[in-house]
Amino acid sequence: MRRGKKITLSWIVILVVFSLLLMDSPSVIAGGPSKDQANKTKDQFNEEMRSLRAGNMFLPMSYLEVDGVAYGYYLPRRLIQMAKTGDKFRIRKIKTKDNILNVEVQTNRKARLKIHIFDPEQEVSSTLLDKVFPLVLADVFDFGSPPRFPRVVVNTRSGLAHLGACNHLPADSLRIAFDDDTSAEAAGHRLCPSCFPPDPPLPYFNYMPTRLAALEAARLFERAFPPVADQALQDSVQNLEEIF
Ligand SMILES: [Zn+2]
Repeated sequence: MRRGKKITLSWIVILVVFSLLLMDSPSVIAGGPSKDQANKTKDQFNEEMRSLRAGNMFLPMSYLEVDGVAYGYYLPRRLIQMAKTGDKFRIRKIKTKDNILNVEVQTNRKARLKIHIFDPEQEVSSTLLDKVFPLVLADVFDFGSPPRFPRVVVNTRSGLAHLGACNHLPADSLRIAFDDDTSAEAAGHRLCPSCFPPDPPLPYFNYMPTRLAALEAARLFERAFPPVADQALQDSVQNLEEIF
């Protein structure tokens, strides 16, 4: 009887261990995408100190389109200010966390800053590591040839100026390309509030998709409940909104 119990217990232990191993195995086998290519890119970049790329608009949030998918990258305010100081950079380290590739750069004066590259998927993909990462570096720094796409695209129907690689560009027949936001505005176009947000985006998981979804919901709300024609009435409604 005792021996029987012992055997049953051992079997339970073996089963539990085995099922735990099974549960864990997918991540062990997958191990995430390889960083080999990204490390090579980093080494190439570090062959010399790199200046910031002239002609980049240095927006807090920019996008690059690769294989039809828009990837966002975030530049810290300090780095944007350094565009004027002529600082040069090297990459100190790269690290992935959830859907973000954090690229820590260091200046010749030893200041450290982080560039975040966002994957629209839940986790950093091999496309981001192999293709988007070098493109972002080429876009921000004097590293290789700059990516070839228009920085700003105006939708001829709405008159809105979007970032060249945002995720809501119109059909090809409705696009006019501009070098930057200033020239698009000078030609009488309005800047898209989602591509050129007045507030810098925050490096939280899925911040940009969530923000875009909220903006879209607000746009639909405004369509369903358009402002009333009576300006006085509209103003009083607006005031109510500010009170609450
Ligand atoms: Zn836009």
